[in-house]
Amino acid sequence: NKEVVVVGAGLAGSEAAYQLAKRGIKVKLYEMKKVKKTEAHKSDNFAELVCSNSLGANNLANASGLMKEELRRLDSLVIKSADNNRVPAGQALAVDRDGFSQEITFILREMENIEIIEEELIEIPEDKIVLIASGPLTSEALSKKIGELTHSDYLYFYDAAAPIVTLESINMDIAYRQSRYGKGEGEYINCPMNKEQYYTFYNALITAERAPLKAFEEEKIFDACMPVERIAMTGEKTLVFGPLKPKGLINPKTDKMDYAVVQLRQDDKEGKLYNIVGFQTNLKWGEQKRVFSMIPGLENAEFIRYGVMHRNTFINSTQLLDETLKLKTRDNIYFAGQITGSEGYVSSVATGMMAAINIAHRLEEKSSFILDDRSSIGAMVKYITEEKKNFQPMGPNFGIIRSLDERIRDKKERYNKISSIALEYLDIKLAEI
Ligand code: FAD
Repeated sequence: NKEVVVVGAGLAGSEAAYQLAKRGIKVKLYEMKKVKKTEAHKSDNFAELVCSNSLGANNLANASGLMKEELRRLDSLVIKSADNNRVPAGQALAVDRDGFSQEITFILREMENIEIIEEELIEIPEDKIVLIASGPLTSEALSKKIGELTHSDYLYFYDAAAPIVTLESINMDIAYRQSRYGKGEGEYINCPMNKEQYYTFYNALITAERAPLKAFEEEKIFDACMPVERIAMTGEKTLVFGPLKPKGLINPKTDKMDYAVVQLRQDDKEGKLYNIVGFQTNLKWGEQKRVFSMIPGLENAEFIRYGVMHRNTFINSTQLLDETLKLKTRDNIYFAGQITGSEGYVSSVATGMMAAINIAHRLEEKSSFILDDRSSIGAMVKYITEEKKNFQPMGPNFGIIRSLDERIRDKKERYNKISSIALEYLDIKLAEI
């Protein structure tokens, strides 16, 4: 019975459905968006990017860039569609979010082996292979079932997303286009601040009213997605060394470096929308308008989406999953995507890819397809499935990829070397299958 149920047509589920279907396996793809949307999903299309339109770095001196290249070599539908819908963003792979999602939706709907069921999956089937890729905002009913299935406390924490403004509402008499250190073609819009403007903004930011979170939720904010107001609370100059750092930017109006700079990045293909980089926030919407409009150049900014805090959910994969991403205690259940603790868009695609290939191999009675930590994808799967204390979600990084035997001082050269080993290794593994 070569049929697999995939739950969720997000980043992981879309990739997995494609990989299974193209290998001749019938897929029942459950996606609930048409009848029920999570608090972050807005459109009916698949593989929706719920926050940033950037999939992160695209160069091989970066672990996320390496992961993308590995995925390209594995014929990833999601990365191919991202490449096809790219918008200018310097070294990053950013996309027109609608074009990207539409392309993936169209391809999956056209595939003969995929049956799309636009319902919320509530009961996990026992008689079929099931891949759960329902994401960080898994519906409540399914969350409960997963909780029962894994006999563990279901884990939640809170992430935050950044606001988006329209280009035409940005005052370009004050703001200017430039990429940091002149790398790129001036894709970013920069809003400069002098010291006085910075401190006025800073004081407003740390005293602004936040949306309420329950006390127990307060403790569970994920470090990498810390709201800008919280980063600010850690010290009055933290932002100047973090998201508002002016280094590598020269204001063409003064030929000088400013005290602080807020950067905005293109969010759609036409370049009409820009998101405020690093401004994930939990401020109340009215407060966002008031405080972020104090940023020079944004005084009349039109906010088309405000930042939000959102729930995140993941199972303790390090104890629960084997290296094919199958639940150790059940032979028919696999997990992929952010729910496994593989953090971020690209890692979600990677675990979707690996679960699907392994399910396909199993149905075809081939041996498992395991990549080791020489590759970025292998390192990610290893990280989330190897036993450890205090498991926290992890995105692609060189810290988990196998280091070199030789010593190379220059960081960029070192990372490029690690990447070339990874890709050589992957090519050999691909030749084997
Ligand atoms: P998703 O892409 O969320 O897909 C899961 C799908 O399952 C959804 O379409 C959902 O409707 C569906 N679903 C849920 N329950 C059911 C059910 N019971 N039955 C049927 N369908 C169901 N990562 C980044 O790299 N950059 C960011 O900027 C970023 N911002 C984020 C902002 C928010 C608000 C959130 C929540 C997450 C963010 N992430 C970000 C983290 C993560 O990478 C993304 O959420 C990513 O989309 C995860 O991919 P996924 O496939 O696991 O889940």
